Amino acid sequence: MKIDIITLFPTMFEKPFSESIIGRARKNKIVDITIWNLRDFSTNKHKTVDDYPFGGGGGMILAPEPFFRAVEHIKQVNRNLFLPRGKIILMSPQGERFNQKKAVELSHYDHLIILCGHYEGFDERIREYLAEEEISIGDYVLTGGELPAMVVVDSVVRLLPGVLGNSEATEEDSFSRGLLEYPQYTRPRDFRGYLVPDVLLSGNHKEIARWRREQSLLRTLKRRPEMLENCELTKEDIEFLKKLKIKGTASNNESRKKENI
Ligand code: SAM
Repeated sequence: MKIDIITLFPTMFEKPFSESIIGRARKNKIVDITIWNLRDFSTNKHKTVDDYPFGGGGGMILAPEPFFRAVEHIKQVNRNLFLPRGKIILMSPQGERFNQKKAVELSHYDHLIILCGHYEGFDERIREYLAEEEISIGDYVLTGGELPAMVVVDSVVRLLPGVLGNSEATEEDSFSRGLLEYPQYTRPRDFRGYLVPDVLLSGNHKEIARWRREQSLLRTLKRRPEMLENCELTKEDIEFLKKLKIKGTASNNESRKKENI
């Protein structure tokens, strides 16, 4: 996969993209990431890339010219590579909310060009005539698109074949199968009297798999119940959830009785 990022602050990406799993993926040439300085595509001698908003108001707006020029340049540079599936993504709090499903979808592309905003944001024509998709990493406003771009790249790159070893497989991750992940334990078995559940030490793989599935269901029901509506559930899952709900109702009734409600 080829990823090109256009930003006003290229050095922000140096460490995060050279360490750990992403750094390893780059070294192993599974992903090729290039960071471009937006200022290099400014056409004026002061290298400015922003201007005051028409109609007045505070803040500065990123002008269209440098972004259009940067994307045209990137396409030109990459023209000899075979990158049939590409997408130009604009980082924006107004975009579609990013999630694991989107990360999986983007991991099937050959080429991502990511545009990072700053200041008051983008001239609308960048959004309308250059970007093909707008992504938000959550309902809050950050100072720039650099951290959101890192979030998107990190979550996409770890899904590329060969990036994670077998021991770091992604199938059991939270959201991968529509559920949160089950609790995990490592040594020691007894930590200050806090014990690892017996079933995990039983060696009975069927029982362990059942326990993990039930814990995933339980955790998802407690923390993110809305996820269960779009998740593929087996007959056993539904039975287990029914039992939990009956138990939940019984204990609620019990506490209401105690409180004379
Ligand atoms: N005035 C803009 C608005 O209300 O939509 C916000 C501009 S924000 C201060 C500057 C830049 O940070 C944005 O152009 C975008 O690139 C990035 N950004 C901020 N919050 C973001 C979020 N939640 N998701 C993705 N990008 C974000």
